[in-house]
Amino acid sequence: MEIVQLGSETLRQKSETVTEITEGVKKLVSDMFSVMIAANGVGLAAPQVGVLKRLFIVRVDDGIRRTFINPQILETSEETEPSEEGCLSIRGVWYTITRPKRVKIQALDENGKPFTLDAEGPLGRAIQHENDHLNGILYIDYADADFRQKTIEQFQRRAARREEKLAIKKAKSARIAAKNANKEGR
Ligand SMILES: [Zn+2]
Repeated sequence: MEIVQLGSETLRQKSETVTEITEGVKKLVSDMFSVMIAANGVGLAAPQVGVLKRLFIVRVDDGIRRTFINPQILETSEETEPSEEGCLSIRGVWYTITRPKRVKIQALDENGKPFTLDAEGPLGRAIQHENDHLNGILYIDYADADFRQKTIEQFQRRAARREEKLAIKKAKSARIAAKNANKEGR
């Protein structure tokens, strides 16, 4: 399981409702927790691992693993608050954006049990950030246009470099394979 990066189409698509909490969905949730914790993240949404399902996970400083399936934001406070945000799909970039201070959300947990939660602080922010992912929205969309454009270009260059490296690697292994085939021929 890999976390897709800015530039990937998946990050801009709308995710679909989870119709049944199967063993596959539970496995997805547990794999997502492993990947997120390994990456030192506090939240991860299914589209970030290439799965267009309305599901995300959060684990903030309190260490509690929270799973939100088919979440619905019921209310957000009028009061807003600025705070620095990052995203595992926009690695190495942070920016201060303003969001509602409090949020009320309803969702199903990993066992399909409905719950409602009022959250603020880091948890409230993570919930709003991850919920946006299910609608193809990224936190840079709330940032200053210059910053957004620069970040998009930075990731385009990163992706190009990655592809270039991959092509070199491919060409190299093709040469080695040809060499070996030659040797065997002799
Ligand atoms: Zn994110």
